[in-house]
Amino acid sequence: MPARTGQEYIDELKNRPREVWIRGERVDDVTTHPGLKNGVKAVAALYDMQHDPTLREEMTFASPSTGDPVGLSFQIPRTADDLMRKREMMSRWAWASCGMMGRSPDFMNSIFTAWAGSADYFAQDRPEFKKNVLNYHEFLRENDVTLTHALVNLQRSRTPASADNLTEEVALTAVKQTDAGLVVRGSRVLATLGPISDEIAIYPVASHRLADDDWKHSFSFSIPCDTPGVKFLCRESLDQGRSHFDHPLGSRFEEMDTVVFFDNVLVPWERVFLLGNVELCNNYGTGTMSNSHTGYQVLNRCLVKTEFMLGLADLIVETLGSGSIPHIQEQVAELITYRDMMRACLRAAEADARPNQYGMLCPAMGPIQAGRTLFGRTLYPRMIEIIQLLGTSSLMALPAEADFESGIAPEVNHYLATDSTDAWERSKLFHLAWDASCSSFSGRQVLYERMFGGNPVRNAMMLFSNYDKEPFRQQVRAFLNADD
Ligand SMILES: Cc1cc2nc3c(=O)[nH]c(=O)nc-3n(C[C@H](O)[C@H](O)[C@H](O)COP(=O)(O)OP(=O)(O)OC[C@H]3O[C@@H](n4cnc5c(N)ncnc54)[C@H](O)[C@@H]3O)c2cc1C
Repeated sequence: MPARTGQEYIDELKNRPREVWIRGERVDDVTTHPGLKNGVKAVAALYDMQHDPTLREEMTFASPSTGDPVGLSFQIPRTADDLMRKREMMSRWAWASCGMMGRSPDFMNSIFTAWAGSADYFAQDRPEFKKNVLNYHEFLRENDVTLTHALVNLQRSRTPASADNLTEEVALTAVKQTDAGLVVRGSRVLATLGPISDEIAIYPVASHRLADDDWKHSFSFSIPCDTPGVKFLCRESLDQGRSHFDHPLGSRFEEMDTVVFFDNVLVPWERVFLLGNVELCNNYGTGTMSNSHTGYQVLNRCLVKTEFMLGLADLIVETLGSGSIPHIQEQVAELITYRDMMRACLRAAEADARPNQYGMLCPAMGPIQAGRTLFGRTLYPRMIEIIQLLGTSSLMALPAEADFESGIAPEVNHYLATDSTDAWERSKLFHLAWDASCSSFSGRQVLYERMFGGNPVRNAMMLFSNYDKEPFRQQVRAFLNADD
């Protein structure tokens, strides 16, 4: 089947109801639920881009199985040109949500594409797991499947230890093996896009390393979201049913985060990719270089998001007429620096890309790690702060769309115009600035960027342990030991 249309994505969600709970209510149809439907529309719009005659070439490639055009994020990159094409395609999708949808499907597609490109890694566990990975990748590609994943186990306590405190009643646990497959029970966080995906992938997260004997929590698999026993519990929706004018981001890009419960769920053997091998489970990210490919997608989206924040900041300055104030210039200049730094990381990752042992071209991890870490920990929270500092009271002096149709409209139109902009355009812009920096939608964005790539503290601990610092130590020793 060629790349999907948005309507085909929506029809599949409708035809395969899954167990989704939101604020005490079991959701009948995720495509019409007020808290979820606009996120569905946003994902559908991404799929439709693959059929836009002006973009089709850019968004797809010829399927190795059928020759039909299929989503480009499923292509295993072999050349620098392959990577460039991917970047263009991923940027298109990232711009469609101003970088606000971390789970545009290319994120998960990048993982399984990298796994398929390194499928021999899985054969080290069992030969049939390689076949499972390759077949699954083909299934995803040929059906343009939308995926979510949930990697982190819920824990009852968090005493510092090298491994998690996983208890069988809480963490997702392999409880039985049958002729039909593996049976799992427990819970995982946090499946973003879960209720509106077709499939859910489960595997360990690199930052939460499994203990040497923890074979009961060592597995990797993927199953349909409507598999019996899989239950999604949503947080409150950030789409409050307002207009695009009032909530320009929240009314469009709610990708929903969920806790997932597994009530004795059967995973068919053909959907199992790793089982019981702690070492392979702990090291799949570097072993397959899937961390390089997802990191590349993330860095690309973060660059788009930085450019969006820069554009937003500059429009705020223009609208308020504050561009001649030195500290305002300094704040916008800071955003320019962030943009150029993020771009430099992306370009460096491409320039230093190397084939891995399986012949798949992999963007360099150093610049990816640097860009991702800085973005989530420092740059993005600071970007939000800058938008707040630039916008100040205009982020609150914010008439709703309805105010322009009401008895207070004359005052709104008169008093809220600026030298460069009428009240309507000013309010439209500042609703966007508010939704990017002050609303509950924006709060979740900051948390997402900080945490979605795994616990940053644990990631830093891993970097500290694994990074080859010896060449730099040697330089210092040489200086200390120099005679003159
Ligand atoms: C908006 C959002 C979306 C997300 N989407 C996804 C998704 O789609 N799929 C997915 O798999 N995950 C997702 N995540 C989950 C993310 O991977 C986890 O939040 C992250 O790995 C941290 O785990 P935790 O929340 O359990 O942290 P906790 O373990 O609850 O940590 C709480 C605090 O304790 C500290 N801490 C706890 N244990 C340790 C330790 N052993 N060593 C050092 N510090 C420790 C942490 O630093 C933190 O400050 C998402 C998270 C967010 C916020």
